[in-house]
Amino acid sequence: MTRNFVSYLTFLLLFLNMALVVKPCFASNPISAPIAKAGILDLRNTDLENFTVPIDGEWKLYWKVLKKPGTTETYHEITKFPQLWRNTLWKGKFLPSQGFATYELKVLLPKERDQLAFNIRDMYSAYTFYVNGKIIAANGVPGTDKASTVPYWSTQVKPFQPTDTLFLTLQIANFHHSKGGNTKSIEIGSFSKLQAENNLDYAFDFLLTGCMVMGGLYFLGLYLLGRHDKATLYFALFCFFYSYRIIGTGDYAIHSIFPTLGWHLAIHCEYISLFMAVAMFALYTRNLYWEDTPHKIIFVMTGICFALVVITMISPPLLFSNLINPFIGLLIFYISFATSIYIRAYKNKRIGAKYALLSTGVIFIIIIALILDYYDITYPEKIFLFVGYLGFFFCQSLILSFRFAYTLKKAKTDAEMGLKVKSEFLSTMSHEIKTPLNAVVGMTHLMMKETPRPDQKQHLDVLLFSANNLLAIVNDILDLNTIEEGKIQITNAPVDLSEILKSIVSGYKMSAEDSGIDLIIRLDDKLPAKISADAKRISQVVGNLVQNAIKFTSKGWVKLEVEIISSTEKDITLKISVQDTGIGIAEEKQKIIFDQFTQIESSSTRGFGGTGLGLAISKRLLELQGSALHLESEEGKGSNFYFIQTFPILEETAKQKDVLPENIEEKPLKGICVLIVEDNRMNVVVVQNFLKRWGAESEVAVNGQEALDHFDVTRHHIVLMDLHMPVLDGYQATKQLRERGETVPIIALTASLAPDVKRDMFSIGMTDIVSKPFNPDQLLNKILDQTVRL
Ligand code: ADP
Repeated sequence: MTRNFVSYLTFLLLFLNMALVVKPCFASNPISAPIAKAGILDLRNTDLENFTVPIDGEWKLYWKVLKKPGTTETYHEITKFPQLWRNTLWKGKFLPSQGFATYELKVLLPKERDQLAFNIRDMYSAYTFYVNGKIIAANGVPGTDKASTVPYWSTQVKPFQPTDTLFLTLQIANFHHSKGGNTKSIEIGSFSKLQAENNLDYAFDFLLTGCMVMGGLYFLGLYLLGRHDKATLYFALFCFFYSYRIIGTGDYAIHSIFPTLGWHLAIHCEYISLFMAVAMFALYTRNLYWEDTPHKIIFVMTGICFALVVITMISPPLLFSNLINPFIGLLIFYISFATSIYIRAYKNKRIGAKYALLSTGVIFIIIIALILDYYDITYPEKIFLFVGYLGFFFCQSLILSFRFAYTLKKAKTDAEMGLKVKSEFLSTMSHEIKTPLNAVVGMTHLMMKETPRPDQKQHLDVLLFSANNLLAIVNDILDLNTIEEGKIQITNAPVDLSEILKSIVSGYKMSAEDSGIDLIIRLDDKLPAKISADAKRISQVVGNLVQNAIKFTSKGWVKLEVEIISSTEKDITLKISVQDTGIGIAEEKQKIIFDQFTQIESSSTRGFGGTGLGLAISKRLLELQGSALHLESEEGKGSNFYFIQTFPILEETAKQKDVLPENIEEKPLKGICVLIVEDNRMNVVVVQNFLKRWGAESEVAVNGQEALDHFDVTRHHIVLMDLHMPVLDGYQATKQLRERGETVPIIALTASLAPDVKRDMFSIGMTDIVSKPFNPDQLLNKILDQTVRL
């Protein structure tokens, strides 16, 4: 902090030093410039080719006279030039700010001289400047009263015919501004040099204005197209108002493009842009560091600025130009106040506060330099003002960019967080749903095996059907979640496609019959016996298409067809299609049905049930395997869903069937003792009942800790381990059993089958996994598989 602060201060001091160049040095004359004495300025020994000299000093003043050059006017006084009238003594009294006067000066020039020129800046409020009796420059028209005076402000570089002696006559009149006289020096120097300097000044002004206007437009665009961040809007407005001040004050570069721009309009814009820029900056600061801002003070500050804008709009310049002096005091307070906000923001580690602090430091210096210039104390060098403004603008833009990037980053992490929370929620929920579902399915299976009465059998069928439906929905949601997380894995293995498809069809035979439709399967005779494919995913996709076809067909048929599109020795390309003569899908709906949770909302399809996930999952599963799901359909006539996929052909191997032992209906697990580690009482009952039916003995531990305490290697042949349990979960219990050196087979009972969960389980020493709700045959097979190895 301290080192940062020191470097910050050093930078500001350096900038201050460069920005504030004490007035005499402005003349760029290493030897101090000669000063006019008693109406005569002797420049005979001054190098005017290389140096620009202010023709300041003692001029002759004729008050209330617009003296023509060469005419004789007896009474005059010697006075300092440039100087405001209210500071000028005439007949022992200070002059009023409104009036008219003539100044005269005799300038003696060197013998050797280049083409010379005068650089004449604006005066309050109109002047005519004569050199040797010829008018060489004028701003407006000086008159003897308000009606005959036309005010105008601009900076001009005017060449003149140099002679040994110059007689300068300057007529000034002011009836429109609260100040009269002049504060800015007239300079004499080489014409080319003065013009080049003037052009450079204009170039800086235009460049800066261009930057500010573009910046303003850019930030306005960000505000309108983005998140409507008010700080961005106020900064854009600040840029617009301040950009006017760069060309509409100082050297009045604006007049070089709009020479006809009237003084009244220009001075109104000059004041309004100042008040508005300050108000916008205050509002910007407030919105940028909301928590660090004393809102009431900002409220009062902006209120004052807006009030000043109103006064400027409704009153004449003679009146509102009086506002500037008190406003300068206020401005110093405003900048100090803004700095205090930025210091607070910096301390509170707000985004970009470092740059805010730096840039207010710079603008503080610029404003101080401008104020000192205004009071004629120092002149700021244009280049440093330019660098300062640019630095200020750059820092502020940086802050807004940081802010914008931060908002984007935050939105991204929020969205990622949201996705993570969603997927965690979905897996927890599905786990929670699957656990009781396990008991429902298990109990139903058990009751069905206990020779129920026909009416009881019917009820149990409904129960099992509903439970399986619910399970399918939970599995769908889990599947989609896994696909979205990119965690799904396609595992190819040798499969007999015909067998898979036939078993799908036989699985849906009953429901097709119930709907009174024919379910047809047509397979190409030349289908190879074994191909490499993911049997689970193919069944999922085809099963879903067949299920939909039956669901949306009330008469006619549903046909599952496999055609060979092409084949080589190594692989085969198949078109697998499911056609129906059902309700069909209107053309405009055909694209949207592949989006998740989309169902066609029409009276004809409402009431078919479903989640709207099946097609979305099928489409993504096929895409993962390099295929695509296509649809041809006509409303009222039927649909044809198909996909084309290439599979490697494998040589036929001996069939490896999971054959259950012959004595399956007897007691296949006789003599085996199983330790069930499960906290859900219902699940325990289901597992215990099955084990009893299979002839096994069982003992129960309600959590991992109990399992560690009760496990007895001499008694327990196998452990069925739930994963989520209080006190000590299944992962920890398994880990600790393995650390103890136990080699007993541990089969995990889990509702979550995400690949990373599986990987975790095997890495800690689980022997196998059975997913919940378990299929009794599968559980028996897995236990048998382990016990055979015992
Ligand atoms: P679900 O069947 O669970 O509603 P799907 O994603 O499988 O979800 O299907 C989305 C929608 O597509 C269905 O609700 C239905 O409107 C339409 N659809 C799917 N298959 C067919 C079909 N064979 N015939 C007519 N409409 C269908």
